[in-house]
Amino acid sequence: MAATEKLDMFCYQCSQTARGTGCTVKGVCGKEPIVARLQDNLLFAIKGISAYLYHARELGYSDPEVDAFIERGFFSTLTNVNFDPEEFLNLAVKAGEMNIRTMKLLKQAHIERFGEPTPTKVRTGTVKGHGIIITGHDMNALDKLLQQVEGTDVFVYTHSEMLPAHGYPGLRKYKNLAGNLGKAWFDQKKLFAQYPMALLGTSNCFLPPREEYIDRMFSTGPVYLPGVKHIDGYDYSEVIARARELPELPDAPGEYELTTGFSTSVLLSHAAKIKELVEKGKIKRFFLVGGCDAPLKKSDYYREFVQKLPQDVVVLTLACGKFRFNDLDLGDIEGIPRLIDLGQCNDAIVALEVAGALADLFGVGVNDLPLTLVISWMEQKAVAILWSLLALGIKGIWLGPIVPGWINDDMLKILVDQYDIRLISTPDEDIKKMMG
Ligand code: SF4
Ligand code: SF4
Repeated sequence: MAATEKLDMFCYQCSQTARGTGCTVKGVCGKEPIVARLQDNLLFAIKGISAYLYHARELGYSDPEVDAFIERGFFSTLTNVNFDPEEFLNLAVKAGEMNIRTMKLLKQAHIERFGEPTPTKVRTGTVKGHGIIITGHDMNALDKLLQQVEGTDVFVYTHSEMLPAHGYPGLRKYKNLAGNLGKAWFDQKKLFAQYPMALLGTSNCFLPPREEYIDRMFSTGPVYLPGVKHIDGYDYSEVIARARELPELPDAPGEYELTTGFSTSVLLSHAAKIKELVEKGKIKRFFLVGGCDAPLKKSDYYREFVQKLPQDVVVLTLACGKFRFNDLDLGDIEGIPRLIDLGQCNDAIVALEVAGALADLFGVGVNDLPLTLVISWMEQKAVAILWSLLALGIKGIWLGPIVPGWINDDMLKILVDQYDIRLISTPDEDIKKMMG
């Protein structure tokens, strides 16, 4: 088989498998290729839900209904259980609903533990002292680390999806939370080599290290990398001790500050003003631009897209896709910031809550709001969120920079025909269509 040949499906889960290697055209068991694709889609969505559920559970929150769905979803993909594509589509929508429950649960866990986020300026660059960079998504691990460095000369810097930590009152209260370094997850190798700090990875999007910094790298929770010291539990004294052995960093402020921490309550406190500005035509449209970022040239789209948007629109953002443009100063429209960071990927729930509240305020459905979703898609957590949006009946979502490999033409046809999914082209062309 040529390396570029497209597979209709790939399943090697049982001993009937074709040629003993894998069913690639149709299952020996009778499984149709679209069923295999939909099974993969469901498994990827379940993995995404599991990551959020794990973080919630570590904070003491769980949901038996989501647990039961995960069991049912996994079971349905066993050999000779379910050959019905319609049922797998129903399960994908159900996964979207379960992911909404899970994102709500995690939001509740974060807020009850750390308070509801409020807008916060975050410095970039370093302060004088030793340092630890923490990356991943685990606020609980960050909290424990901050407790353990309190009162010392070891400062903690967030990276990538940990940036939203600064919005939580219960985390930014720690004096040793010094700022944010770097951008999305895939700059780790360059960033980690640049700063002589201890490094702690807390969840997915943690990359195998370079030799030059492997001896100051640690993982925790579900993250393991060969040759990297894993910390079981939340005792980070080894990480702190390693940071102390490394040279002190200078006081060197970065070139820009970032702002994060726009929670549902903060945004809804401006609801009346937003309504007034929309009715007066001073805000023409809202865009949700963000999601999982990938190190692809085509992802340059998102910065150019935001830069080319007209001045009378507001950009909501979340997840690590925001680092494509969150250093830009977009100003405000009569006090409403034009760039609003809602937080991590799981804070998509904030976007959904705000969209629901705006729809109520204007007396229309969510699809009738002047709101366009421009979502970047990298991996499996993003699929859980996509199905959450689709489960709510949201249509006309723009996806990019490319669709992942398991979305073949048949899968894409389902997304386009049933959910009006659109693929991005160029910022100029897309903005013209989106602004009508
Ligand atoms: S479950 Fe069906 S499609 Fe999968 S390997 Fe077995 S025979 Fe092939
Ligand atoms: S938002 Fe997505 S791509 Fe970015 S760090 Fe999180 S899981 Fe990874």
